[in-house]
Amino acid sequence: MSVICYLLSPVGFCSGVARAVDMAKQVLKFCGNVYITEDIVHNKALMRDMYGLGIIKVSALEEVPDGASVMFSAHGTTPEVFARSEEKELTIIDGTCPVVKAVQIAVKEQSKAGKKIIIIGNRTHPEIIALKGYAGGPSSTFVVYDEGDCDLLPDFSGEEVMYFTQTTLDAQHVERIINLLKEKIPNISRESRNNTCYATLDRQAAIRSVSEVVDFIIVLGSTYSANARALEEAAKHSSVKKVVRIDSEQELDLAMLSDVSSLAIATASSTPRSVVDNLVSFLDQNMEIEVREFDPRLNSVP
Ligand code: SF4
Repeated sequence: MSVICYLLSPVGFCSGVARAVDMAKQVLKFCGNVYITEDIVHNKALMRDMYGLGIIKVSALEEVPDGASVMFSAHGTTPEVFARSEEKELTIIDGTCPVVKAVQIAVKEQSKAGKKIIIIGNRTHPEIIALKGYAGGPSSTFVVYDEGDCDLLPDFSGEEVMYFTQTTLDAQHVERIINLLKEKIPNISRESRNNTCYATLDRQAAIRSVSEVVDFIIVLGSTYSANARALEEAAKHSSVKKVVRIDSEQELDLAMLSDVSSLAIATASSTPRSVVDNLVSFLDQNMEIEVREFDPRLNSVP
């Protein structure tokens, strides 16, 4: 009997990743090469292709030759890096996703207005490192990821406080932390924003919808992709019994599929379509599968 293989929509790049990749390709076509200090998107296979096309990665902005082109990632960068790039007379290609850019602008405005800013996010992620650069200093900006971090927040009595969130975390985790902040800080601004983007929400919603009818969920995306890790977290907290996150079909252990009658493939927003197609072909070569696309925005649970 065929194993039903649900390919969860959306598949392929989100608009922010597609934009950054297109920008990089255009620049490479006209300039031959462009320097980066951070991967422009978080997918290993895609970045391998980009290096082949002429992207050059350096560990610090100082290593970019004066007058060359530099591209900033979809996660954004700090105002300080923009300023230093201008000093070096670099041609700046700003790959910041417009959704991320909007959060940066809002954080900057609210900080300038004197509000204390709480950012729910992973403090080592480039999006959060950049976002902190648009806020005030350490006495007015606080990054929290989990409940333990919230316990360390100071007393905000008499202060105006607002929260913002990373765009790519597990939606249920973010909701939990927001509710905790509302409990702890009764005066927290009602204008606070959950900035989890639609690309993140839609992909997690697809996992939650399909989890009751499949035995196994394969998350296709790189370890360093926050979006992929959030999909993995969403799957692990769903009713499905087995979950694995892989970068490509080469990491899939077929033994994990021995007792599986239906599975779902969820893809991160930076996973190229070719990587998805390779996984489907690999499954098709090794077992009898029936592939069905599933989009919870269009279909009810299968
Ligand atoms: S995952 Fe969301 S925030 Fe990140 S690049 Fe895509 S659309 Fe933009």
